[in-house]
Amino acid sequence: MTETVHIDLGDRSYPIVIAGGSMSLADTFAACPKAAQALIVSNETVAPLYAERLQRALSGRYPQVQVLQLPDGEVHKNWHTLQTIFDALLESGADRKTVLFALGGGVVGDMTGFAAASFMRGVPFVQVPTTLLSQVDSSVGGKTGINHPLGKNMIGAFYQPQLVVCDLDSLDTLPARELSAGLAEVIKYGPIADMAFMDWLEANMDALMARDKQALAHAVRRSCEIKADVVSKDEKEADLRAILNFGHTFGHAIEAGMGYGVWLHGEGVGAGMVMAAELSLRLGLVDWAFVQRLRALIERAGLPVQGAILDAHDNAGRYLQLMRLDKKSQAGAIRFVLIDSPGKAVVREAPDALVREVIDTCCA
Ligand code: NAD
Ligand code: MG
Repeated sequence: MTETVHIDLGDRSYPIVIAGGSMSLADTFAACPKAAQALIVSNETVAPLYAERLQRALSGRYPQVQVLQLPDGEVHKNWHTLQTIFDALLESGADRKTVLFALGGGVVGDMTGFAAASFMRGVPFVQVPTTLLSQVDSSVGGKTGINHPLGKNMIGAFYQPQLVVCDLDSLDTLPARELSAGLAEVIKYGPIADMAFMDWLEANMDALMARDKQALAHAVRRSCEIKADVVSKDEKEADLRAILNFGHTFGHAIEAGMGYGVWLHGEGVGAGMVMAAELSLRLGLVDWAFVQRLRALIERAGLPVQGAILDAHDNAGRYLQLMRLDKKSQAGAIRFVLIDSPGKAVVREAPDALVREVIDTCCA
């Protein structure tokens, strides 16, 4: 069974195809732009697992299909690695029509998308996301880019793919920790936009953890639909798109405070959602039962529900300091994504005293 989500952005619209085995089928790519060449950009972990089947599926359409293996890891999402993509393109005689295929998680997707946005001022690209996080989040919405030593995702472009292919079979080889991290981004869509989806997640969390294909198909489809809906109303992040950062303000503080890579992004988001829900409770927006429900769901997804201690002397102070540095803050005021009522998010500030209370309660 194939699910398709249409991303509606005028002349930059594109489909997201969701099905087990989809990257192996030539038909999946039947509407991709024709070219003399295609370049599959992947990494040293994913390419040995999946590049050959994708290459075979593309071989009827593109006379030349090459594979480029990047090193694996967020630390390689930088200028140097980007340059190796341009090197490979130029050395193989790529032209303005060459199509790039990003095969991997969000790191590969973000870098390949940015390479496509800038090579010869823009060549077509296709996302073949192979982590749950990249299927439900990073491959939707057109943000591409690399890190700078002074900040994550600081250099980049908005650039939409021609097609996104979510092959659910690729999730079979994903490490359990990465699966859970992806589930954090799935769970977030419930409280901010769709409580029926939260009900569904509660009923199907065991199936998702067991990587049941039907359950994954629904979770990926609904997540993409909700993100697409938000993004199509606010492509360049004026305002509404900020609600997708539910749990991220506290989560980023944990990631940065612990040192990047100690907690996975999704793990920070898991604990961060609990903290944001606790803050919503203290502001009188939601009740205790809602916070408990969310906490239980996050826990069942194998995610932490408590924040980390970042500073034994003034833990809350350290969180506040880090959150003020977050790029989503404005003039030092922290903009929290809170739950206004279950299924609806609101972006607002909160008194430091309440934020401190939440941190003290949630980090033990
Ligand atoms: P990732 O790309 O680092 O992948 C996680 C790990 O899983 C890597 O080691 C990878 O090699 C491995 N892997 C990938 N697919 C696999 C598979 N099928 N089987 C086995 N191993 C596999 O991490 P991620 O969580 O996918 O993405 C995180 C990145 O996405 C960050 O750089 C973040 O900034 C970015 N991101 C971008 C957006 C956006 O809107 N563009 C949104 C969210 C996150
Ligand atoms: Mg995120």
